[in-house]
Amino acid sequence: VSSRLPNVGTTIFTVMSRMAAEAGAINLSQGFPDFNAEPVLFERVSHWMREGYNQYPPMAGVTVLREAIAAKVANLYGTAYDPETEVTVVAGATQGLFTAVTALVHPGDEVIVFEPVYDAYAPAIELQGARVVRLALHSPDYRPDWAAVAAAITPRTRMIMINSPHNPTGSVWSAEDMSRLAELVRGTDIVIVSDEVYEHIVFDGRQHESCARHPALAERSVIVSGFGKTYHITGWKIGYVVAPAALMAEFRKVHQFNVFTVNTPMQYALADYMADASRHLGLAAFYQAKRDRFRAALADSRFELLPCSGTYFQLARYRAIRDESDTAFVEWLTRDKKVAAIPVSAFSAAAEDEGVVRFCFAKHDDTLDAACERLVAL
Ligand code: PMP
Ligand code: GLN
Repeated sequence: VSSRLPNVGTTIFTVMSRMAAEAGAINLSQGFPDFNAEPVLFERVSHWMREGYNQYPPMAGVTVLREAIAAKVANLYGTAYDPETEVTVVAGATQGLFTAVTALVHPGDEVIVFEPVYDAYAPAIELQGARVVRLALHSPDYRPDWAAVAAAITPRTRMIMINSPHNPTGSVWSAEDMSRLAELVRGTDIVIVSDEVYEHIVFDGRQHESCARHPALAERSVIVSGFGKTYHITGWKIGYVVAPAALMAEFRKVHQFNVFTVNTPMQYALADYMADASRHLGLAAFYQAKRDRFRAALADSRFELLPCSGTYFQLARYRAIRDESDTAFVEWLTRDKKVAAIPVSAFSAAAEDEGVVRFCFAKHDDTLDAACERLVAL
């Protein structure tokens, strides 16, 4: 078979969750909560199913949900998106990102990403026949190097893909970072794709810097977010994209033939749920407490914990425990010590290995405590 993606194997999240299940390990690898969403959400889904809302919704998503999304974004970040022409419901952020790249990137273009980079970005770019331009972020704080970004921009740069709060590093961009980005793209036709799926999980009083908070960025940004992380429903695979009408028109040309639309009853249920605008309010504090619990429990371990300003991921250096590659380490940790994690080299093309692994702390306190007991003993 002539492969379009000769260097791509199976995504690390599938590999590690499978290994965790086979080993009977506590799974802190793939990012998902081990607790349930609020029951009212399930009641609303079954309500709409029973009421007969089981056929195709409009291509861009049901109107009430698009209105709820536009209202939320306007309230939080100050940019008004027209639900009719500038908001689209997607089948998860992955589909939103893939469709955005497919709709907007041409063969021969360059797309800038920051590495470690979420594993879905580069394949989407490569399938377009475009070039991935990777800018390295380094431990411990993984700050963007703005001089390097400036140097990487060429007349062929079509898009810059950003992600704050950042998976896997837990770093969060500041207002200053957003201004630097805005300065660098001013006067170009570069599109920003901003992956904001962790927008409500920022710690220590920080503010999430959505592109929708910065008009100079909003006018050229496709913002991708979702409900999986915010409402503890990663398996529902529903998200949304907001963008200025001209960009959204191109996005929808592809979306309509990619998935056409997203399941009806869950869209109505989410619209009902979002009518209470306070739904996401406790989320940052909820996860900050879990971060603090996890970090405190590992304080006496031989792991060195890196800073975590957002997301539900904690990075840790492990070389004081075993001097080996991060993939070898997570295999040993999963199979022999029964705790699964993600090797950070999986987020870089050259498998750059700084001896760091990622733990997901979106888990019951009991799960975290049981995992930490094992990790402290190493
Ligand atoms: N982007 C990032 C940074 C993510 O961490 C994830 C999922 N964890 C996604 C996109 C994909 O989200 P979805 O499950 O909604 O496709
Ligand atoms: N984004 C989640 C993570 O980082 C996993 C999503 C997936 O498995 N595709 O763990």
